Amino acid sequence: MKTILVTGASRGLGLATVRRLLDDPQGYRVIGLSRSYPDEARALIGAHAGRAEFISADLGDLAAIPEIVSDITRRHGTLWGLVNNAGIGMDGVLATMHRSDIEKVLAVNLTAPLILTKYASRGMLAAREGAIVNISSIIASTGFHGLAAYAASKAGLEGMTRSLSRELGKRGITVNCVAPGYMETEMTSGIDVHKMEAIRRRATLGLAEPEDAAGAIAYLLGPEARRITGTVITVDGGSTA
Ligand code: NAP
Repeated sequence: MKTILVTGASRGLGLATVRRLLDDPQGYRVIGLSRSYPDEARALIGAHAGRAEFISADLGDLAAIPEIVSDITRRHGTLWGLVNNAGIGMDGVLATMHRSDIEKVLAVNLTAPLILTKYASRGMLAAREGAIVNISSIIASTGFHGLAAYAASKAGLEGMTRSLSRELGKRGITVNCVAPGYMETEMTSGIDVHKMEAIRRRATLGLAEPEDAAGAIAYLLGPEARRITGTVITVDGGSTA
């Protein structure tokens, strides 16, 4: 059974991805990771006991990451797939942003995925198979007022994706990004109503929902995407077209 680790699984896109992967005909084992384990995630994972499990971890604690991968490998063998989805927003103009907040955004959104991928890819290299999907954002390429650190972290993920696709491609491992546009999740719940109207107007197909992005993630992990690597799939309802 192929084991896939999905970070940020407690809610939003991560939870939608866990649900989508558990429903996938490939019959994956899905491991969800986040700090909290709310009822909705608990019910989903509980309903698939034996094929789904939850790990409680704070990805801001970078030193703990190697052991997370070792523990999964001991219990389930080499990870087949990794979805680097956990992320934090931290809205604020850079000029007044605390240095600790800048460092936190970069640690959770960029350094943690790099380290998680470092350890997960060792097993994949030996197995000569695997798939990694990094969750970027359209903001990596469009920019957005008040999100400089966040945009830097997402642009960093896209750069990491392109370089790693070259490093790992020769061993049959794919590395891709999904870049969602605005989705209504907890991350975006505090957004100003006027900004919201403008965002909504730009999405000609309507705003993307977590399930839309989860579908793209499942596609990139699936057999039909085995020759696709180093790319970014945008799921934004047409906002950036
Ligand atoms: P969300 O609802 O806020 O979910 C974020 C997830 O990340 C939660 O499961 C959270 O779980 C986890 N997380 C945050 N900090 C963590 C940490 N230190 N350690 C472990 N897990 C942590 O946001 P979302 O909208 O689903 O976002 C998912 C991904 O999509 C993010 O990478 C985000 O940047 C990206 N994205 C979102 C949008 C959007 O409009 N919503 C657009 C483009 C891209 P805990 O709090 O329980 O740890």
